[in-house]
Amino acid sequence: MDLIRDPAAMRRWASEARSRGESIAFVPTMGYLHDGHLSLMRIGRARADRLVTSVFVNPLQFGEGEDLEVYPRDEEGDLAKCESEGCDAVFFPQPDTMYPPGFQTRLVTGALTTVLCGASRPGHFDGVVTVVLKLFNLVQPHVAVFGSKDYQQLQVITRMVRDLAVPVEIVGAPIIREEGGLALSSRNAYLGPDERSQALALNQSLALAQELFAAGERDPGVILAAVRAHIQAQPLGEIDYVQLVDAEELTPLYGPLVRPAVLALAVRFGRTRLIDNRVLSES
Ligand code: AMP
Repeated sequence: MDLIRDPAAMRRWASEARSRGESIAFVPTMGYLHDGHLSLMRIGRARADRLVTSVFVNPLQFGEGEDLEVYPRDEEGDLAKCESEGCDAVFFPQPDTMYPPGFQTRLVTGALTTVLCGASRPGHFDGVVTVVLKLFNLVQPHVAVFGSKDYQQLQVITRMVRDLAVPVEIVGAPIIREEGGLALSSRNAYLGPDERSQALALNQSLALAQELFAAGERDPGVILAAVRAHIQAQPLGEIDYVQLVDAEELTPLYGPLVRPAVLALAVRFGRTRLIDNRVLSES
């Protein structure tokens, strides 16, 4: 496995692979890797000749007062996991090489980011799509894998690729959960024991919504009220948002649910902001 820190070297590595006729799968991450990330690598591995994972805590996507400085890092552990998943290269750049002096160009997202995390974290998705496009230009993947745990991010990147005719296939991957249902996240490392056990309410509330939907409930108000009540029963949880939105356009749904809908939520436990979601299905 090649460890590549320099963006120009990453681009050369990718160009050489392409010139040998090899296809490239890419998994961008912010590191502190867990089984959710590894599941994306397995999907990528199966879809191309070469697998590249990047580890980069991207300052552009963090707002003022967010957790950029304290975001968990474990370079040695991450490299070992990438190696054991059969990555051919790990791209591990630093902010000063990704954003050298004079860097000033950014992508701007649209309506998809006026809701959910986009509303709570202004500028976040502009930072995400900017770094993802730059990473795509360096890694030159044929296919890139993103988790549907970050449901809005997956939609925003899919749209960016479509809007700007970026020659990459975007593949969405299922949410990987711990036993008990908590979605794996690098930020779970921040949770204290009581917060962690109360955070199980997130997935439980999504299951509750799914049960109601499968039983025929189509009133968003009824489903949202049940979800909110379940989360609010946890004294340490503070709801940022709980919303039912159109599964593709992410527009909030107020009338009877007739189109595919996703229930998305963000809840704070102390300083930790957790997100989760579930696409509601008939059965
Ligand atoms: P992050 O390192 O948090 O930026 O995540 C990198 C990629 O891993 C993103 O595509 C995430 O959606 C994905 N990911 C994070 N957690 C999970 C999970 N529990 N299940 C599946 N994918 C995940």
